[in-house]
Formats: sequence, C-alpha cells, structure tokens
Amino acid sequence: MFSKLLIANRGEISCRIIKTAKRMGILTVALYSDIDKQALHVKMADEAVYAGPSPSKDSYLQAQKIINIALKVGADAIHPGYGFLSENATFANLCQQNDIVFVGPPVNAIQAMGSKSEAKKIMEHAKVPLVPGYHGEDQSAEGLKSHADKMGYPVLLKAAAGGGGKGMRQVWQASEFNDALAAAKREAMSSFSDDLMLVEKYLIEPRHVEIQVFCDNFGEGVYLFERDCSVQRRHQKIIEEAPAFGMTEELRAQMGEAALKAAKAIDYAGAGTVEFLLDSNGQFYFMEMNTRLQVEHPVTEMITGQDLVEWQLRVANNEPLPLPQQALSIHGHAFEARIYAEDPNNEFLPATGKLSLLHPPIESEHVRVDTGVIQGDDVSVFYDPMIAKLIVWDETRDKALARLTKALTEYHIDGVVTNIEFLYKLASSVPFKAEQIDTGFIEKHQDSLLLNEQQDVEPLLPVAALYLMLHNKQHLETNLNDQFSPWSQGNAWRANELHHQKLELMVGKDTFVVQVSQAYVGKHIVYDMKIGHQEYRCSGVLENDQLISTINGHRTISKVNAHQEGYSVFCSGKVIQFQALQADLGDTQDNAADLGFTAPMNGTVIAILVEPQQQVEKGQPLIVIEAMKMEHSLKAPSSGCVSEFYFKAGDLVDGGVELLAFQANQEA
Ligand code: ADP
Repeated sequence: MFSKLLIANRGEISCRIIKTAKRMGILTVALYSDIDKQALHVKMADEAVYAGPSPSKDSYLQAQKIINIALKVGADAIHPGYGFLSENATFANLCQQNDIVFVGPPVNAIQAMGSKSEAKKIMEHAKVPLVPGYHGEDQSAEGLKSHADKMGYPVLLKAAAGGGGKGMRQVWQASEFNDALAAAKREAMSSFSDDLMLVEKYLIEPRHVEIQVFCDNFGEGVYLFERDCSVQRRHQKIIEEAPAFGMTEELRAQMGEAALKAAKAIDYAGAGTVEFLLDSNGQFYFMEMNTRLQVEHPVTEMITGQDLVEWQLRVANNEPLPLPQQALSIHGHAFEARIYAEDPNNEFLPATGKLSLLHPPIESEHVRVDTGVIQGDDVSVFYDPMIAKLIVWDETRDKALARLTKALTEYHIDGVVTNIEFLYKLASSVPFKAEQIDTGFIEKHQDSLLLNEQQDVEPLLPVAALYLMLHNKQHLETNLNDQFSPWSQGNAWRANELHHQKLELMVGKDTFVVQVSQAYVGKHIVYDMKIGHQEYRCSGVLENDQLISTINGHRTISKVNAHQEGYSVFCSGKVIQFQALQADLGDTQDNAADLGFTAPMNGTVIAILVEPQQQVEKGQPLIVIEAMKMEHSLKAPSSGCVSEFYFKAGDLVDGGVELLAFQANQEA
C-alpha cells in the first residue's frame, strides 16, 4: 500500500479522504491556498504544503506545481477528490510520467468521457441506450437546428465539455433555437473554452438515476447499485438517496449491467458513475459518465457498508476489487442533503461570510456529517459554497426520511445564509415523502418551498418575543440580590395584575409590534402577547441557549444565538433572525395615554434627564431605561413637568411598572 498520499483538493472531500487514509495507516499530505492556511483539512493531515494564492487557478488547479510538491514530500500517490483536477487527463498523465499513482481511472478513460459527444459515440457503439439526439461534427446553426426540428421540441442544448449545469439551454420551440444556441455557446466558451454543442431530446420530468461502478486493473467490474439524484436546482443536485425508490430488481440489474458495459467499453478502472435519465415507463438513457468519486458517494457507502475511498486506494494499489458482485447487497436506505451557503429565496445565489455559529447534529450510526469547516471559518468567494453534507441512514425510506428532517432541525448555522430551512421544507413535504419526484420537483413546488412569511415567520414571532422577555428577566435576576428580587418576594404585588409592554421585532425589513402583558398563573409567569390580530399565551424556560417555550399550549425547544446583529432562533426546522428595536413609548399622546409612564420592559434606569417640577416641552426625553442592551427613553407627551420620579438612576425596574408621575400644563 502507499506510504504517503497527497490530496490535491480542499474542504470536505479532503477531510473525508484523510479519514480513510488514516484508518489504513497511510500518511497524508494536504495542500492549502492563502485563505485555507487554517482550514480543517490542513489541520487533519499529517503534513500540509502551500500551493499558492486563493483563486483555485493559482493553487488547487496548478497541475505541475502539485506534482512538484508530491515529489518533494515523497508522496507515492495523489487522490484528486472531485472537482479541480479530478477529471483532468493532463494531470493524470503528469502523475504517470512522474511515477506517482493517480487515484482515479486511466488517462484514456478520462479522455474518452471528457466530452459528452465522444462519450455518447462510444456508448452508442457499446449499445448502451442513449438519450436521443445529435452528437456529431456538424456544428452549424442550421445543421443543429435541423436535427432539433426533426427530433421535435423541446430539446436541450448541451456543451460537450459541460459540467455543473453550465452551457445548457432548453429550447421549447423552433423560433427560440438560434438565440438559445448562441447563449449556450457563449456560456460554454467562457466556462470551458470549448463551445462544441450537442442536441438532445429534452425529456419531460425524468428522474436522474445513476449507477456507482467500480473496476479493478484485472478486467473485473461491479456495480454498487444506484442513487436517485433527481432533486436539483439549476441542474445541480441537492438531495440524493440510495437506493432509488420504486426500483425493481430487474431494472436495477439492467441498469447495473448497462453501466458496467459503459465502463468496460473504455477499459475503466477505479470508481466511476454512469448517469442515466429514467422515464416514467422505466426506460433509461445514458447521459454521461463521471470518472471520479462523486459528491454523493456517502449514500452508497451507507447502504452497502463499504468505504469507497478505501476501494479506490486498493484498486489504485493494483489490488483486486474488495468484493465480487454477489457479495454486495443493499441494506436500508440513505439520504444526503447538501448544506449550502446560498439563498434559496434569491434564486439560490451563493452566499459568503463567517460561520459565526456552526452546530451540526450529533453523529451516530444514523447520522453522518461530512464537512471541511468549523465554527469561525469563512465561506469565501473562491470556492464552492457547500458547507457540509448531511447523510442519514435507516432501515426504510420512511425512517431514513424522518432521520433527515430531524437532523435538519438540529443543524444550526449563523452568520451565513444557508439552504437548511429550504431542505427541511423539501424533505418534509408531502410529495417528497410520497416519492412523487422527478428533476422538475423544485420548480413545480417552488411556492411551498420558498419563504412564506405567514407560515415561516409569524409562528416564530411569539417565540422570539418570549426569548426577549425571559432573557431580560434572567438578566435582572442575576443582577439582583435574591432577597430583594421581585421574583422571589412573597408579597406577590403583581399577582393577577397585568403589566403592559411593547416590543418591536425587526425581521428582515419588516417590523412587528408585540404587545405583551405579563401575569401570574399561580406561581408561574405567563406572557399574553398580541401581534397584529393574533393572540398568544406564552410561557417558557430559558437555559443558556436553549429555550423551551409553550405557545398556546404547543411546547417546542429552540436554540437561540445572540450575536452582534441581533438574535437567531432555530425552532423545528425554521429559523427567525431578528433585532429588538427600541419600543418608543410616550412619543405621542396616544401612547402615553395607553401605557402611561411604564417601563417598556424589565431593565435598569440609566438616567433621569430632568428635575422634578422642571418645565419640559412636548417630546423632551425624561428618563432613560436600558434593557436588552438597548436604551429606551420616555418622552414628555405634552408640555408640563414631572411631579415625581419613583426610581433613581441605577435602580432595576420591572417591565410595566410606573416610573414617574407627569403633570401636563393646562391648555391655554
Ligand atoms: P452537467 O454535466 O452539466 O451536470 P448533465 O448532462 O449531467 O450536465 O445534466 C444535468 C442535469 O440536467 C441532469 O441531471 C438532468 O436533471 C438534466 N438533463 C440533462 N439532460 C437532459 C435531457 N435530455 N432531458 C431532460 N433533462 C436533462
């Protein structure tokens, strides 16, 4: 076996590979760019070497430089992970020339599958069923269009060199063809420096089902069953599962055999994935073959109990396949959800920022988290914004799905916008549960998956307000000598007495006013809240960052993260980010009449701004209270004077308590 493995990658896949290498007793060498100096993959590896500036073209894509590093550190093998140089034939070739084992397929196999057109030609020859289309040399607009016209619309234009959904355009009618072709070519040129196009029949609502294959250097091959990756946004996968639901043994064997035929047609070795589109009649069509380890390989690992990175290393080390086909079987069901820094409510735009809170679910035999970041790390503009892969397993699809939704509710990230809430909604949606899934799933169900204020924000408002009330109460209690704490005094001067307070919560650009009255039910405090026309009876317990709340009889547990910009409350797969605004009381006659000169919430008197009996003008600030790290000033409702202040600076006051007596001037 190799003694030292260099991993020509970064992030989660580097960490993933290091774990297996360590278990197998292989030393590991990581690469890092400027921005990755302190990255997790660097910390996990036995050695780490600087590869260059942060842009990947200057570091992780520097083929010759990486070879030089491998030679210098004495690495006898390089694992390219996925992305970057993993499907780069020149790099694989360089490895070979320098007597370094490339943990991947032979150069010829990478080349053969590097172009979607070439790949389709080879598969046609090997009699693997293809998506109908044209993948020939004639690249003239008229030529391509005549093939599209013959095939009938809709068609899909694809860049032969394409990947990551780039250089692809749907064309729904002949009149759109030329514009779509020009756009697809432009995108292909800028992404791949190659604008060779192919035309395919655009299949309506197919499923994306792919087969994991593995071949050794002795002509043996096996398939490790299938993964369904139909749930995609922008033609990119976000939830994958294995096995594919509704799969019959017969179809599985057919697809597995077709995939092996594809692999054998190019003398494949190592891990590969043959991607098919599957229509509702059980017809499947070859789309492309990926000559690397896929992002979604963990779902296959979970159902087969195999470590695919170990398989890759063994095959690369010229060992026979660890298991023959008949020894492989499917056990249970697995899902993978890709946790991305992106904003589903803004066309899935990638997001960047510091992961100020990164709290994954606890790992177990059912839950696995593959990640390359820790709390405090940045999601930068330089690389793919995937934060982690959440993988779950259980005996059946239903049970595994329950694990997935639960684990998503336990995944708490702050500082960067993520797709967790979106994934939660998706995974808990009725059609997803009911296996009504095809590649159009997200588009079809967009309305119910994206943020809906009424369903997603409003139910969390009383939870957020309750947190503020309890947090402030706690703050006061810890600052009070117990003996004098109003909460521990026996005289119960508040019993059955209502204390009105007003909170303002800013959520995004919206401000919500929460009227809170605080009362005792027996010994327990309850907060009756009114938000708009909705009324809520709320009570709860706050322990550190955990809030147990009961809102109108519904008890839930939330996690709260207080940060510079405000607060985030994570509750049952939803998250609300808010700021507590100053509750500006006494600003108008109405307010003053409504609420009098009461403390807006539990707090401390910071300053008395005027003398008793001193003449003041309407709107002049009289007293300042601090609560929840914010100052609230109460202003004169009209000209007049304060006849008496009931508290002095430094006093602690309960929300709702009367602070002063005001005497308005008689109207002239
Ligand atoms: P890329 O290599 O850019 O990822 P693929 O060829 O793998 O592109 O296609 C990505 C996705 O686009 C597929 O998973 C599928 O959802 C969709 N797709 C590709 N070809 C077709 C087709 N002919 N008809 C319908 N959908 C397609």
